[in-house]
Amino acid sequence: MLFFPKKRPTRENPWADPIAAESRIKGWCIDCHRDIDDEFYMVHDSVWAKARMKDAGGFLCIGCLEKRLSRRLRPADFTDCPLNKPDFTYQDGRPVPKSRRLRSRLGI
Ligand SMILES: [Zn+2]
Repeated sequence: MLFFPKKRPTRENPWADPIAAESRIKGWCIDCHRDIDDEFYMVHDSVWAKARMKDAGGFLCIGCLEKRLSRRLRPADFTDCPLNKPDFTYQDGRPVPKSRRLRSRLGI
C-alpha cells in the first residue's frame, strides 16, 4: 500500500498559507523577505503564473520575480492599472514610492 503525503495547503489555497498571509499584511517579499514599500506593481496573470504564483500568494519584489522568471521584466509585463502609473498616490495624496529598478522596468 502506498501512502502519499498530504498536499500542503499552501500550494492549493494561498489564503491558508501563513507566509502568503504575512506577506500580504506586512508587505514583504515571500522569497527574500525584503520590505517592498517601493515595489508595488501589477503584472499580467500569465507573468504571475509563470513565476508559480497564485492570486493571493503574497508579494514578490522585482528582483525575486525576475529570478523566478529568469529574465528581466519589460513594460509589456505590467498591466495598465493606476498602481503602475508614475503619478499614483495613496488616498491621502502622498505619492506611492517606486524604486529605481521598478521605474526602469516600467519604462517610466
Ligand atoms: Zn525579494
